[in-house]
Amino acid sequence: MPAGRFAPSPSGDLHVGNLRTALLAWLFARSTRRSFVLRVEDLDRVRPGAEQRQLDDLLALGLDWDGPVVRQSERLAAYDAAVQALADADLVYPCFCTRREVQEAPTAPHLPPGAYPGTCRDLTDAQRDARATARPAALRLRAAVTSWTVHDVLHGDVEGVVDDVVLLRNDGTPAYNLAVVVDDAAQDVDQVVRADDLLTSAARQAYLASLLDLPQPTYAHVPLAVNVDGRRLAKRDGAVTLADLGRDRAWSMVVESLGLVGDTPAELLESFDAAAVPRRPWTVLG
Ligand code: GLU
Repeated sequence: MPAGRFAPSPSGDLHVGNLRTALLAWLFARSTRRSFVLRVEDLDRVRPGAEQRQLDDLLALGLDWDGPVVRQSERLAAYDAAVQALADADLVYPCFCTRREVQEAPTAPHLPPGAYPGTCRDLTDAQRDARATARPAALRLRAAVTSWTVHDVLHGDVEGVVDDVVLLRNDGTPAYNLAVVVDDAAQDVDQVVRADDLLTSAARQAYLASLLDLPQPTYAHVPLAVNVDGRRLAKRDGAVTLADLGRDRAWSMVVESLGLVGDTPAELLESFDAAAVPRRPWTVLG
């Protein structure tokens, strides 16, 4: 059954911005008769206990999901298989660049600003062997396009930059862009609702899906919650987590910010209109 999803990172407690995205993802899925699945993106920084608190918060507020919770840390074999499939098609190469080298490299004239300039793309075997003695390699995709268009329910057709994305980091951890694509397909997710700071990642992810012969989801990138300075809301912005505010207070702030009427998710569903979702960032005064 086609699904929508929420994919939190268990790096801390949920804040009102995360809750708003979760509620919108739930409403988009349920209002289109999709199932709703949950995926814990725990390949990066994990704070002990955070996952359980996040899941408890969602359930207590009535944001229920279907099927088992998927954890990325339990799916390493699936990511390896995807990298292998791309490698078999000669679409993978080792990259020895440090983060700093990538930032400081001159941008390539034929690529859009911000794209990886391809420093390691055409190294000879001898150059690779020499560089491999200094540091372990990350694996990058050999992209054949520089842009890709995705469809977003709120933003329309969006053309975005595609570059040679990292597939495996140089410590062997699967990269976020790869894991998301593999997991969305495995979980039958055909509707991706998430905060719009990830809108620029959608092109890379959809292109990667096409190379892996996976279906392209539709997207709804919803406005980000920001602090008074207009930056992505973070825990340090004051009392913004559900633990700080209490679940009920956090819930009413979120519901009010969306102009929705009702108390429970099921009540909100009755009047939910995707076209009426606010388009501007939500400023939270912590
Ligand atoms: N785990 C990401 C986050 O918490 C979301 C990734 C996604 O929805 O694709 O920001």
